Amino acid sequence: MSKSLSMLFTLVNKSNILGQIRYYASSALPQLSSEKYGIKRKHFSPLQQEDINYFKSIFKEGQVLTEESEVLPFNIDWIKNCRGQSKLILKPKSTEEVSKILAYCNEKRLAVCPQGGNTGLVGGSVPVFDEIVVNLALMNKINTLDELSGALVCEAGCILETLDDYVRERGLIMPIDLGAKGSCHIGGNVSTNAGGLRLLRYGNLHGCVMGVEAVKADGTIIDCLRTLKKDNTGYHLKHLFIGSEGTLGVVTKVAISCPSLPKAVSLGFFGLKSFENVLQLYKSAKSSLGEILSAFEMADNCAIKSTVENLKIPNPISDYPFYVLVETHGSDENHDNEKLTRFLSKEMESGLIIDGTITSEPAKMKNIWHLRESIAGAGLLDGYVFKYDVSIPLTNYYDIVLSLRKKLGDKVRNVYGYGHIGDGNIHINVTVPQYSKEIYSLLEPYIFEQVAKLNGSISAEHGVGFRKPQFIHYSKDASALQLMRELKRTMDPNGILNPYKVLPDV
Ligand SMILES: Cc1cc2nc3c(=O)[nH]c(=O)nc-3n(C[C@H](O)[C@H](O)[C@H](O)COP(=O)(O)OP(=O)(O)OC[C@H]3O[C@@H](n4cnc5c(N)ncnc54)[C@H](O)[C@@H]3O)c2cc1C
Repeated sequence: MSKSLSMLFTLVNKSNILGQIRYYASSALPQLSSEKYGIKRKHFSPLQQEDINYFKSIFKEGQVLTEESEVLPFNIDWIKNCRGQSKLILKPKSTEEVSKILAYCNEKRLAVCPQGGNTGLVGGSVPVFDEIVVNLALMNKINTLDELSGALVCEAGCILETLDDYVRERGLIMPIDLGAKGSCHIGGNVSTNAGGLRLLRYGNLHGCVMGVEAVKADGTIIDCLRTLKKDNTGYHLKHLFIGSEGTLGVVTKVAISCPSLPKAVSLGFFGLKSFENVLQLYKSAKSSLGEILSAFEMADNCAIKSTVENLKIPNPISDYPFYVLVETHGSDENHDNEKLTRFLSKEMESGLIIDGTITSEPAKMKNIWHLRESIAGAGLLDGYVFKYDVSIPLTNYYDIVLSLRKKLGDKVRNVYGYGHIGDGNIHINVTVPQYSKEIYSLLEPYIFEQVAKLNGSISAEHGVGFRKPQFIHYSKDASALQLMRELKRTMDPNGILNPYKVLPDV
């Protein structure tokens, strides 16, 4: 093992499952993104010693990282597909510090890569060349919580799980939940418009985020940090920062609406014999469970099997072709349990559910969620994972997995599908012993062409990042792309913010 790689391992947080997966799955440093994908460096200024001296003069120790071993983890993405070449990591502690960094970089034409928890899955969070990484981890203060309205105001570097723990103690929950919650930042969630496990119930971030504070490329602080549900005063500027993946500004503060902590939570985990039955069960769950339905997730046999085998996480039921996880959030435990049990017996009788378990015990629910949430990382232990995150109308939702299996045959280890049925969002993972250009060219653009033919979106929730700009035209027409370019030019005329991401080169 190379020295730099072993240093990377000691830096990952081995106490959480994500850290462990990265640790065990790592066998070599990923190839540089610029070489792997043949990218040419744009005409930004190269970093000089005087730039480093400037940042050292305005920041304290620990806020400016330049040692090779310290910088390396910030250059590599979570799935170890992309590797940048940044030589400088800056960790601002306030909005004013972010503003100073950007004003300086804009003046000097130095490119910048904003970074949150670095759990993004499309290579957007790491540099491609020598962009300066602006990591928000030290901006982790919770500013205010209005327990009556549920409005939480916090800095962008707060970890999602920490926020959820904080608001739970005060009778609320975060409206967003995802497998990476122990590492991802709320600023990263907003910048990617993350979806996750409970979007079905609480909606997406364009609805839940009440306001943002962000810094433009030239250092101007934009204050849209309102905590009102209604504010129809002109353009809704916060939406520009939700999902723009660090290309229009750096999000520094977020105001988000937190729903009440549900008094009753129940969870069902079911085995089904076909995908057709998964769809029918979804229809039935919507009508039988109504307003208490908070999650409807599906995974195929291969997704669960490889998670059980690779991570030694037990499956609470036997082996079935498809699995469905249903969660309810309500206010009356007896009433909700009765509804869920009635739903289970009805659908066992109809034959849609072959086997299943229902629980309201926190420890048991946690174990089932743990199995579901670990699917995303389990494939890394096969060697390398090609990951896709697409939206497809429900009737054709699973077709892409079947067609990929047929196309790839035994050239790959596994092809599996899992995801958020309620959102029409499927994650497709193709695992191989190591990265292979041959498999890559069989997958792309094939997969995006198929999604476009089915009127789907090539990115449901992970974003475009570094990996998909050249395919964005499958989901955005030329007029929309033109408007995106005009917005980018207005907000970041020198193009210093997250270059090589989101927008394709003309
Ligand atoms: C195990 C696992 C499960 C996941 N499950 C889901 C899921 O269910 N749903 C989902 O949507 N995603 C999921 N993801 C993807 C990822 O966690 C989300 O995209 C998350 O929102 C990224 O947050 P982050 O703080 O890690 O951002 P990063 O990965 O650091 O950055 C992501 C993008 O946002 C930009 N960015 C980050 N912070 C800021 C900021 N403050 N200002 C401006 N730009 C910024 C970066 O430049 C980059 O383009 C999962 C990832 C993993 C590893």
